[in-house]
Amino acid sequence: MKIICIGRNYVDHAKELHNPVPTKPVVFMKPSTALLVNNKPFYYPEFSKNIHHEVEVVLRICKNGRHIQPQYARTYFDAIALGIDFTARDLQAQCKQKGYPWEIAKAFDDSAVLSPFVPIEQVDLDEGIPFRLERNDQIVQQGHTAQMIFSFTDILTYVSKFFRLTVGDLIYTGTPAGVGPVQIGDVLKGWMQTQKGWQQMFVCEIK
Ligand code: MG
Repeated sequence: MKIICIGRNYVDHAKELHNPVPTKPVVFMKPSTALLVNNKPFYYPEFSKNIHHEVEVVLRICKNGRHIQPQYARTYFDAIALGIDFTARDLQAQCKQKGYPWEIAKAFDDSAVLSPFVPIEQVDLDEGIPFRLERNDQIVQQGHTAQMIFSFTDILTYVSKFFRLTVGDLIYTGTPAGVGPVQIGDVLKGWMQTQKGWQQMFVCEIK
């Protein structure tokens, strides 16, 4: 399986990092070794002094496909999760400055927190999905998938032109504003609204 991530998919987040608002999805990948599941703690890595949280809605691909057409995009994912795209912002800044690839800043071990999945029938895809991240019980990021620059359909249509999607692939769909550094001892909690109300999707302690 592969993990495809979309960058700068919320206008307010693109602006907070002084990035231009993209006209096409910004795409990168993480390896499967980046996954951090089952509420396991995140161990602060020695290579960075500025790890940021980015809370994101995650799609699970349920059907193989390439060149997906917009009208069929919804049939290619069957479940939604919430995750964190941990980012070594200091390394990312160095990579961006030099025009280097930024995998060391984005795709390192345990950089992809992932909650359990909720079937898409349990969320409102038409209205969009509200979600938030709490750091030590204070809300630090709040988003709503209706605010995405590129919708789930746009993302699937675009990425499947380049990468054949296969069952079990994950797509991290971008983060809203409010990204910021984590410290050892922090507890991050991700929340998402489903048809059962607000659900706590994951807890991640920084160790
Ligand atoms: Mg991200």
